[in-house]
Amino acid sequence: MRRYTCSGCSLLCDDIMIRSDGLFIDEVIGACLKGKERFDQITAKNRITSPMIRKGDKLSKISWDEAIEEVVKIIRNSSNPLLYGFSNSSCGAQSKAIELARSIDGFIDSNASICQGKVLGIANEFGFNLTTLTEIINKTDLIILWGANPAETIPRLLNKTLFSRGKFRMTGREIKTLVIIDPVKSASFNVMGVRDIALQIEPGKDIELIQALKEECCQADSIPSEGVAGIDQEDLKRILLHIMGTENGVIFLGQGILKSDKENRLIREILEFIQIINSKQEKGRMSLIMMGGHYNMAGFDHVSLSLTGQVGGLQFKEQNVINGNKSIVTKINSDDFDCSIIVGTDPISHLPSTLSSKLSKRPIILIDNQMTGTAELADLILPTAITGIECEGLAFRLDQVPIHLEKILDPPSNLPSDEDLLNQIVMKLNEKGT
Ligand code: SF4
Repeated sequence: MRRYTCSGCSLLCDDIMIRSDGLFIDEVIGACLKGKERFDQITAKNRITSPMIRKGDKLSKISWDEAIEEVVKIIRNSSNPLLYGFSNSSCGAQSKAIELARSIDGFIDSNASICQGKVLGIANEFGFNLTTLTEIINKTDLIILWGANPAETIPRLLNKTLFSRGKFRMTGREIKTLVIIDPVKSASFNVMGVRDIALQIEPGKDIELIQALKEECCQADSIPSEGVAGIDQEDLKRILLHIMGTENGVIFLGQGILKSDKENRLIREILEFIQIINSKQEKGRMSLIMMGGHYNMAGFDHVSLSLTGQVGGLQFKEQNVINGNKSIVTKINSDDFDCSIIVGTDPISHLPSTLSSKLSKRPIILIDNQMTGTAELADLILPTAITGIECEGLAFRLDQVPIHLEKILDPPSNLPSDEDLLNQIVMKLNEKGT
């Protein structure tokens, strides 16, 4: 048995024991159900192992040469291509995708831009403290889950951070306080103990809550006696006492906040709140971790920053990034694209129906390893190896730490990695006379 990293979610657990003969995985120890599913994907029924093209209502198998020719044909006929996804691809593939977008003057965006990328996009206005899992395990005494439900989305997060004993937290769970702020009583509420604080906020009132906490930080006794956003005055005072007294606190910002905050008002308020806490705290400090779901959601922003100096949607014109101020949502909504290249994601199922129906009206090239709603409507499907199982790659964990993912076994039908396939497409497009 050997130890490997699981790429089932952005926690990238590096303590999974695997027995494999190089052809199959015989045993997986230490992974949660979600991680187990990731390893089961190798032989799943919806696995795609051959390129396919749509003919009428049906998808038919084609050879790899024909598939690459078709990709080139669609791209050559396009003047405004859209590239999207990449949170389930390695940093090498993300870098190749940006190279492709640059060479064809396309627009490229990752799933992060409608999730945790929003925070980085405005971080230059505020700056904020990041922290690492190791620091949380060793030092944290206050964990706040805001719009976050790790028990279901990142299943081993609380095992590692809340229930662990660290170098300076030898008493472990007993000294750590958990605060959950959420309108829904999610599965994560089930781990709460007597010293923890559950704040079931009224839906859509998070801004009111932050503003009240900010005000109370600056001017004591400003919280109205009837409470704020459905939370009573006493609970608000209690949580503020914990926040201002923490030696090392962390806010996990979940998708409940990241996805719903369309104009980033809430994220701005939270970053400002953290700034106030840290300026008033004498010894302690508060940090932030964004809870992106896909295993390399954080990676795209790092790659994009290092290659172009920008995060979020990148619009290329004459092979330079222009400041288009656009996102995947505005591009699709305004029909500002004429074909799409989707990698490792399922926007047809996940985007609102108005957007997914617009997306489906233009040719879709899908690079993925499983049948999804997007695959059902794609014009061309190119399957790839599963990163972290059938090919190696680099990914950034949710705390922005880079982790190398190893290959465990060979992919079926000798499938290429996302990076290799994108490289083949770039090279084919650069060939003279094609
Ligand atoms: S928490 Fe995430 S990375 Fe860890 S085992 Fe589960 S799916 Fe894999």
